[in-house]
Amino acid sequence: MELDEALALIRRVPDFPEPGVVFQDITPVLGTADAFKAVVDAMAQTLTDVDAIVAIDARGFFFGAAVAYSRGLGVVPVRKAGKLPVVGGKAAYSLEYGTAELEIPAGMIEPGQRVVVIDDVLATGGTAAAACELVELAEAEVAGITVLLEIGALGGRGRLAGRKLDTLLTV
Ligand code: 5GP
Repeated sequence: MELDEALALIRRVPDFPEPGVVFQDITPVLGTADAFKAVVDAMAQTLTDVDAIVAIDARGFFFGAAVAYSRGLGVVPVRKAGKLPVVGGKAAYSLEYGTAELEIPAGMIEPGQRVVVIDDVLATGGTAAAACELVELAEAEVAGITVLLEIGALGGRGRLAGRKLDTLLTV
């Protein structure tokens, strides 16, 4: 399947998870074998000279794990606070109301490694920025951020200014 055809499967869901929000639902991309392959292959092609993948809780796990497998790399899950048994570092990020924390498992990334952060959607950029902070707390280098979809109007790209950012689709 062509990448364009795969990306056309993303559904816009009005008023989810709350009134006024249009949710970009990537589930059909996951559930359609040829589309999942096209998207994972395209995300994997954005990587150059990378030692490890950091995948963001929760939909980033699907893409991060598949890209890591296809490139012969390990995948390190960055999780919402309280899920990991052995925590190596924490970073706060802002939500619409208040803040939340992301955690990285201890000892999975070595100082000096080149790491790519993978997620499904970039919106305000707070989540991806927190994941980058965790990579840098581990004294590793953020070689790039790769997402399937960027919601341009929410300004995430600006928040990640100076970093390599690859997106397959911008809406
Ligand atoms: P941000 O921190 O950039 O505002 O939000 C990005 C995070 O929230 C990502 O982990 C992503 O999974 C989730 N997210 C925010 N908006 C959407 C959306 O419209 N669709 C999907 N699939 N995820 C979203």
